[in-house]
Amino acid sequence: MEDKFDIVIIGSGMGGLVCADILAREGYTVCVLEKNKQIGGCLQTYVRDKVIFDSGVHYLGGLGKGQNLYQVFKYMGIIEKLKLQKMDEDCFDKILIENDDKEYAYAQGYENFIQRLLKDFPNEEKALRMYCDQIKEICSKFPLYNLRAGGNMDEKNVVLGIDTKTFIESITSDKKLQAVLVGNNMLYVLQAGKTPFYVHAMILNSYIESAWKCIDGGSDIGKYIAMDIREHGGIIRRNSEVKRIVVDEGEVKSVELADGSHVYGKHFISNMHPVRTLDMTESSLIKNAYKNRIKNLENTIGGFIINIVFKKDSFKYVKNNYYYHREGHVWNMADHTEENWPLCYCVFFSASSKSPEYADSMTLLAYMRYDEVKQWEQTFNTVSAADDRGPGYEAFKKRKAEKLLDCVEEKFPGLRDCVKTYYTATPLSYRDYVGNDDGSMYGIVKDYQNPLKTFISPRTKIPNLYLTGQNLNLHGILGATMSGLVTCTAFLGNDEIIEKIRNA
Ligand SMILES: Cc1cc2nc3c(=O)[nH]c(=O)nc-3n(C[C@H](O)[C@H](O)[C@H](O)COP(=O)(O)OP(=O)(O)OC[C@H]3O[C@@H](n4cnc5c(N)ncnc54)[C@H](O)[C@@H]3O)c2cc1C
Repeated sequence: MEDKFDIVIIGSGMGGLVCADILAREGYTVCVLEKNKQIGGCLQTYVRDKVIFDSGVHYLGGLGKGQNLYQVFKYMGIIEKLKLQKMDEDCFDKILIENDDKEYAYAQGYENFIQRLLKDFPNEEKALRMYCDQIKEICSKFPLYNLRAGGNMDEKNVVLGIDTKTFIESITSDKKLQAVLVGNNMLYVLQAGKTPFYVHAMILNSYIESAWKCIDGGSDIGKYIAMDIREHGGIIRRNSEVKRIVVDEGEVKSVELADGSHVYGKHFISNMHPVRTLDMTESSLIKNAYKNRIKNLENTIGGFIINIVFKKDSFKYVKNNYYYHREGHVWNMADHTEENWPLCYCVFFSASSKSPEYADSMTLLAYMRYDEVKQWEQTFNTVSAADDRGPGYEAFKKRKAEKLLDCVEEKFPGLRDCVKTYYTATPLSYRDYVGNDDGSMYGIVKDYQNPLKTFISPRTKIPNLYLTGQNLNLHGILGATMSGLVTCTAFLGNDEIIEKIRNA
């Protein structure tokens, strides 16, 4: 029989890598199996016309000294290696609204954040202070987020049921300020009457504390964690797609790869979407009722992306992102029709070591539902398997790209003159790269009306099979990192690891 690892991890997304690194550091033999040529899932970058594009890391929060993500990265030995650029202190995100020439700035640091918005809303100091206080209060209820050991569900329960829309509307009647305070909600796909305020709070808090870009792309995060895993004896096998999770006598014995070989382990952690994990696991321990519950959970919408390569020195680099929405649509930005799309978009610039003054690229992201590309769902396409999805799909992408560019150009006149070329991606691209079913950007939707239903436990009914990744607690690099910690504490049976990270 082949080697038997203490831990086999399926998928090398952020959650899988964090689990692998922590457990390797704790002395376990670890093997990570990744289906793609490149590790990292959404941390992957790709190069077009010599320009590096990120697939799912445009900026990061919480990386200031002593802040939550900083501490985890310090513990994993990668913080000093990353090439980070602090975004503009006075404006990391700019909110743009149709029919309004103002640009509303989100600044770093709570007092700075309040003072910047007071310039546009001089009578709203009370509302802005209430908003910031509530964010801080809510974040304090999540021990792990604060790298605090201990704590229990009771602490969180009191805040899980707060609705984002109800809360925002309760602090101010100024519709413009309401729209500005949730203006960058593509970060978490706000759904009015559904999105809990804790999701908004944890994400916004991390960026208000400090906002950063990875110079030359976020794949360095995966690269350096992988190096650390290997330094601690772990193995990462790329091009190793898991097809089946083999259960015998009530526990997982091995996973079967696409080439028919098996990898054996004592414990297994899946970084795949929970629905995919359950589909691959045949066991009477997993009841149909549980499977159906997970399958019926809604996933967030997908994205349509244009990655633009600029003509040399044509577009000034700025250290902030832009979030645009059509007037009156901030609460329903994902409910577009063919006619009124896009109701929103965001703009990211890559930080490049080659070109600090001028941007060499720009990424545009708008929403796109899976049903809009469903007719091509039988196709499969990644760089490693460059099958074409056909001319109809190419024409569809071109039409969408031109429409989005027209819309963006209204706020950025002259943009098209700077474009050398562009590349597009749809929910199908994400489906095929990260291996979910519908190209969802952020996984399972959280619901304030039924918060516990949308929290996925890292434990499954099979005692040696665990889950990790963005679908558990929260999405984002920070969210998936926290999910990795949740999985490790469930596996290790205590949260001593949190103290180690805190004291790293
Ligand atoms: C367009 C976009 C922009 C984003 N921007 C930001 C941002 O600016 N900042 C931020 O913090 N977050 C951002 N995010 C979110 C963030 O990237 C994700 O939440 C996070 O990276 C998800 O990590 P994960 O652990 O869930 O793994 P995933 O990234 O989902 O990776 C899962 C891994 O499992 C592998 N896998 C799947 N099936 C198999 C199989 N059968 N066998 C082997 N391997 C398998 C996949 O190939 C993949 O590598 C963005 C996401 C998207 C889509």
